[in-house]
Amino acid sequence: MRDFSQDHRWLSINTATVRQSRAQDLPLPDILEACARRRIRAISPWRDQVAAAGLANVSRLVKAHGLELSGYCRGGMFTAADDAGLRAADDDNRRAVDEARELNAACLVLVVGALPGALAGKAAHKDLALSRQQVHDGIGRLLEHSRAAGMPLAIEPLHPMYAADRACVNTLEQALDLCDRLDPSRSGALGVAVDVYHVWWDPKLRDQIERAGRQRLLALHVCDWLTPTTDLLNDRGMMGDGVIDIPRIRGWMEAQGFAGYSEVEIFSAANWWRRDAGEVLDTCIERHRSAV
Ligand code: ZN
Repeated sequence: MRDFSQDHRWLSINTATVRQSRAQDLPLPDILEACARRRIRAISPWRDQVAAAGLANVSRLVKAHGLELSGYCRGGMFTAADDAGLRAADDDNRRAVDEARELNAACLVLVVGALPGALAGKAAHKDLALSRQQVHDGIGRLLEHSRAAGMPLAIEPLHPMYAADRACVNTLEQALDLCDRLDPSRSGALGVAVDVYHVWWDPKLRDQIERAGRQRLLALHVCDWLTPTTDLLNDRGMMGDGVIDIPRIRGWMEAQGFAGYSEVEIFSAANWWRRDAGEVLDTCIERHRSAV
């Protein structure tokens, strides 16, 4: 297992972690600057942040700062209530692949969607099996495009508390079942993003990481699970402040040959987004060395 205690060369910052500084929106170019100044080598930006700053501009800045992308957030949301919705999702996902390609991302992260309309408060139906079929079919269609673009797709299982509104793929086992059905040859075009926040509780986690193997393990996202958790979405903890044994999970991944970045992804409306982004980044560096 790699020793992270001496430096932060394998630290990546998911830019949502510092999307706000002192509760004010922080533009992506400022985030890139702040990361580069701290010799952070990798980031994973979100599409809305890239769109706000301009794709060509962000692409130029990433190169100028010598940054890598441990991933691109995010594609997915494959489910819809009608054919027009499915087609719109397909179009949007192909654009996400193209943006990830332009930014030379290691993978496009997929948050797959769940019951259509649920996120807005009114689910169009209650058929989670139908949603899962739409996710299967949607990834299958997107693979034709992403293979041609050479952009790996990383399915991110989300904690079951999001099964209704954000993702109906909730365990690593489910995600790997999709991988096996859609990419049986383990070509490298399809794999998983292991976000410790979503999967730490799973009694099958170690077995499924072993099942995934190096070809399927495309990304590692870290933060911590706070007790109590006060918000289902925006109360993620800094590594070391909660109950997740992050080094143990990283060790399981590295035993399979995973050698990529450890990407810090913290949504924290009441704590970290209220602090100065520089303080947050400095804390990420420190905790990467001591708690990841
Ligand atoms: Zn994640």
